[in-house]
Amino acid sequence: MTSYIKIKNHINGQWLDETNGQYEPLKNPSTGAVIGEVPLSSVETSRAAVAAAAEAFPAWSATPLPKRMDYIFKMYTAMAENKEMLAESIAIDQAKHIAEARGEVGRVMEILQMACSIPSLIQGETVQGIANNISGRLIKAPLGVFCGVAPFNFPALVFGWFIPFAIGTGNTFVYKPSTESPLFMQKMMQLMQDIGLPDGVVNIVHGDRETVEAWYDDENVAGVCLVGSTPTAKAIAEGCGRHGKKTMLLGGAKNFAAVMEDAPMDLTIENILMSGYGSAGQRCLAVSNIAVVSEIYDEFVERLLEASRNISVGNAMDPDVFMGPVISSKAKERIENYIEIGQSEGATLALDGRNPDVADTDKDGYYVGPTVFTDVTPCMQIAREEIFGPVLSVMKVGCINGALRAIKNHEMGNGAVIFTQNAFYTEKFINEADVGMVGVNVGICAPHPYLPFGGIKGSLVGNNKVQGKDAIDFFTQNKVATVRVVDPKAGEAAPATGNSDVRSCVAS
Ligand code: NAD
Repeated sequence: MTSYIKIKNHINGQWLDETNGQYEPLKNPSTGAVIGEVPLSSVETSRAAVAAAAEAFPAWSATPLPKRMDYIFKMYTAMAENKEMLAESIAIDQAKHIAEARGEVGRVMEILQMACSIPSLIQGETVQGIANNISGRLIKAPLGVFCGVAPFNFPALVFGWFIPFAIGTGNTFVYKPSTESPLFMQKMMQLMQDIGLPDGVVNIVHGDRETVEAWYDDENVAGVCLVGSTPTAKAIAEGCGRHGKKTMLLGGAKNFAAVMEDAPMDLTIENILMSGYGSAGQRCLAVSNIAVVSEIYDEFVERLLEASRNISVGNAMDPDVFMGPVISSKAKERIENYIEIGQSEGATLALDGRNPDVADTDKDGYYVGPTVFTDVTPCMQIAREEIFGPVLSVMKVGCINGALRAIKNHEMGNGAVIFTQNAFYTEKFINEADVGMVGVNVGICAPHPYLPFGGIKGSLVGNNKVQGKDAIDFFTQNKVATVRVVDPKAGEAAPATGNSDVRSCVAS
């Protein structure tokens, strides 16, 4: 049994209680039990964290690059040595199934490996001979303090998307985890402190909207990043836009799978189950709408229902169950409400996941079992809106164009996957699916950390994506130096031969 957890802020190397005394209960979604409390930090606390990060910035940005990479490498080692403890922290408050929680920690370690290539990725450019004795040099320079906001469903992954790249490129950071899953960051921050990361380089403030809003007009904040729902992304874009801050804002999703007549059926079913029911459907790349060509529609539905009925539901720490609970009683109600909406708008509720069988000790947890709607059409509310739970909507399409049209017409554009063995379908889908991330014969089309991760349309507010070279671009500015070298013996610059070049250079 976990002892009562009092979540603390971490500012300038100190673990601190929130002085305003406002706390929210922290629950274990597997049991519904209150296991601790999370501070709702005040504007003053949020600004104090930014001030600490701003104070740490000059020394940190001047720290030699190999030394900064040494910290990133030590973070990787600390994670490797504490993998199980970190995974358990995710399985307790976010109630991600322990096997998937281990996977999330492993993915963050891969991101840290990738971040160790910052010294190659951050290299600038030079142009010699712009005019006589003049060269141009582009430097990828840090900007100062960045702030980050996490969703409840990937407490570790989002840390990985933001912090290694931000601090690796020389910035300092203030991070606000979700109040629903703050535990991972308590553990990770302690590990960062244990490896000797200087005080103030990474700071944690817990809280909600007000804690974030305190950053918009803070002159020390260079930019804000979020992974969360689209309305939150838009609110932050508006707040930061008013004050000219950079933003990197990943929003919500509604992902399609297209199942073609030649789909390898065992692999297709297995991957759709992993994608649709993994993390109880609370993944931004979870398959939610399944467009199946008419030739195999009946066979697919039969196979999907049979496999879905076999999915076991229960406590996230139970290695023998497949799927844990959803995050909160509010989320459970929202998902159950969508099940009612689907019925009322004429879809067939082929498998009803409400009130699944769970152990007596978990009766107060927030469980929704695998749910399948068939006869869904793209304009139904259950096909348009993000349900963020283990609910699959199966629709019949005539051919690949029907699936592509439904994807194009959808307001979200995070990911889409196709199951086929046909090279023509594969290429057509990659080229025409109107989303940011495409998968072929995979259920979750999450790009490897070396490549950017992010959607398009309603799934991304602005242009900046996480991971890969995109992260380096976001966390740096392209600073350009124009340099004239002067011969110290001559005392003055050698007269330029190309005077017109010099004039245009100075004039601009
Ligand atoms: P959310 O938008 O409710 O909250 C995300 C974070 O924003 C939380 O830390 C919250 O405290 C903060 N927040 C909420 N309202 C705010 C406001 N008005 N101003 C500033 N901050 C605010 O999202 P959630 O329920 O925690 O997470 C689920 C959502 O995140 C889903 O929509 C999911 O698709 C999305 N998500 C997207 C990706 C992606 O890669 N695109 C990845 C994970 C999750």
